[in-house]
Amino acid sequence: MHGAQRALEDPSQLYFGPHQAIWRARLRQPLAGAQWTGITTRMAERLLEENLVDAVLTMKPAAEDRWRPEPVLVRKPSDIAACRGMRMGYAPLLSLIEPALAQGIKRLAVIGIPCQVYALRALAEQYGFADLWVIGTPCSDNTTTENFHLFLEKLTETPQTVSYLEFRADYQVELRFEDGRKKLIPFLQLPLADLPADFFPLTCRTCVDYVNALSDITVGYMGGEGQQWLVVRNAKGQKLVELLGDELVLTKPTDSGNRHAAVRGFVENTQRAAGGLPLRRMPNWLRPVVGRLMTWFGPKGMEFARARIEMKAAETVIHLSRELPAKMKTMVPDHVRRVAEPVLLKKT
Ligand SMILES: Cc1cc2nc3c(=O)[nH]c(=O)nc-3n(C[C@H](O)[C@H](O)[C@H](O)COP(=O)(O)OP(=O)(O)OC[C@H]3O[C@@H](n4cnc5c(N)ncnc54)[C@H](O)[C@@H]3O)c2cc1C
Repeated sequence: MHGAQRALEDPSQLYFGPHQAIWRARLRQPLAGAQWTGITTRMAERLLEENLVDAVLTMKPAAEDRWRPEPVLVRKPSDIAACRGMRMGYAPLLSLIEPALAQGIKRLAVIGIPCQVYALRALAEQYGFADLWVIGTPCSDNTTTENFHLFLEKLTETPQTVSYLEFRADYQVELRFEDGRKKLIPFLQLPLADLPADFFPLTCRTCVDYVNALSDITVGYMGGEGQQWLVVRNAKGQKLVELLGDELVLTKPTDSGNRHAAVRGFVENTQRAAGGLPLRRMPNWLRPVVGRLMTWFGPKGMEFARARIEMKAAETVIHLSRELPAKMKTMVPDHVRRVAEPVLLKKT
């Protein structure tokens, strides 16, 4: 779908997959209720407004639990808004593909995380859509909605009133509450060590496509330094950017700091955890200080994105070689191996 393989010799493609352009981006008028500024939602809306697709397949919040994603086929531009926001959790997005075909939908747009897009691309040919648009978001890890509620309970006394959560690129988790309050929690102070070992399943811990390389465009935040981040992968991705016209503010991504210490710390802790050893814990009094230093001096913009790609690649190799070594040969693609190897070989 990109007309070329990932060029492994090009460092940018090695890390971020095939692309024509990478942008720091934001909507001039952010959409209320969106996860960031709502670029994803607006692109889907524009496809429907321009009658380029018959429907958009995405996730809406379940009626009984705002954090539970539920697949939905949206036909009217005004109905996309109800799907805004990120909900951690699994839901069978592609289960609505066959119902879509049965309803005569031939031109479809799909918003999905990488594992959903992989399956979609594998199946798309046999389904024979007249046109297929794929807006992908990156995804580092996912878990069940039940586990997500458990996590919220550890972060706040009033988990039922949390309306927004994001793992930001400045090393803090942002929580928003129904009454408009906000809370920032530095990553270092997250109760990660108190979570069950299988909080993130092996499939996520060994994921090889953080950046959603098979989408037409990836819309995330990881290289956006406080804004959004676009990886335009092919002509359709470029068309989606153009559909937003003046509503979209595009700038060159920032790139500063040095990722190596952060990646090394992560790799050491992942190796300890995978080996059943306790995580190296920093004294409580030091955590806010180091958290603040990371915000100031840690890798930012594209360097932060490279750091996260290296962490994820190393995590995949560490967990797969420990838990399912026989699958190493077939399940770790070249690009992940190339990124992980130097990181794992580095001495501390
Ligand atoms: C589990 C998960 C982990 C993520 N991790 C990262 C990350 O590490 N780095 C990064 O840069 N970005 C990550 N993202 C993407 C990020 O949270 C934003 O969705 C993205 O930046 C788009 O922002 P927006 O304002 O344009 O989205 P919006 O306009 O608010 O639209 C968000 C879209 O995501 C869809 N969606 C929500 N939950 C799910 C779900 N569980 N499965 C599939 N689709 C869903 C919604 O239906 C909606 O269409 C993750 C997303 C998910 C679902």
